[in-house]
Amino acid sequence: MEGICSKKTLVKHKEKKTCHHGPTNTYQVQTPLGEMTIVSCPKGLHSLSQAARTDDTFKPDKWCQVEFISQLYSDNGYTYTPALHCIQWLKNYFLKQENDTRPSICPSISRKDTFTGKVWQTLTENVPFGETISYKGLSLAAGRDGAFRAVGQAMASNPVPLIIPCHRVIRSDGAFGNYAKGELNSVKEWLLQFERELFNLNSRLPYHGVHKHCILSFIQVSKEISVFTILTIL
Ligand SMILES: [Zn+2]
Repeated sequence: MEGICSKKTLVKHKEKKTCHHGPTNTYQVQTPLGEMTIVSCPKGLHSLSQAARTDDTFKPDKWCQVEFISQLYSDNGYTYTPALHCIQWLKNYFLKQENDTRPSICPSISRKDTFTGKVWQTLTENVPFGETISYKGLSLAAGRDGAFRAVGQAMASNPVPLIIPCHRVIRSDGAFGNYAKGELNSVKEWLLQFERELFNLNSRLPYHGVHKHCILSFIQVSKEISVFTILTIL
């Protein structure tokens, strides 16, 4: 069967789009999730999307390296720093290396001053690599307790998956919930497992943190039992 890495396609001609920061450019990148498309204007990202959309035939390949494939305009007079940053960010992400900064998102799509924008920002800034939050928990953290359906809609309309890490939002009962409107649920599961592997190997937060908390609680309980036992003996 043909692997993800061997599936290289050239960018087909697309209509030139613009926002008021300038024209957009489109980049194709090979990743463990298959081919991804980055659309960016000079100011920030407009979208990051995955070509494969069907769970039945799609399997991520963690050995596949992030690699630039092609771009729509080689030189149209603009520099697309956010797109280049995004490619490097993806490389670091899939190598599980620290990303100090996120590629900027174009203000025209960031939905600032809306609840959706607040949810995206809260998730991105507060739920790091390897951690998860429930839809309900995110609604509370974003300042509208109980609005978990609106959170679900915000996730469904996320223009830049991975960078706004909607895969880290799961259901309160621990079930993963939908990803890409239910078309890539296996990818969500794969991403969560992929991130958790790092913490299992390196004993870093949050899993180490959870264990530490459990150990501290145990020690505290043990001391109480010890004191109680000594008093009884005395
Ligand atoms: Zn823009």
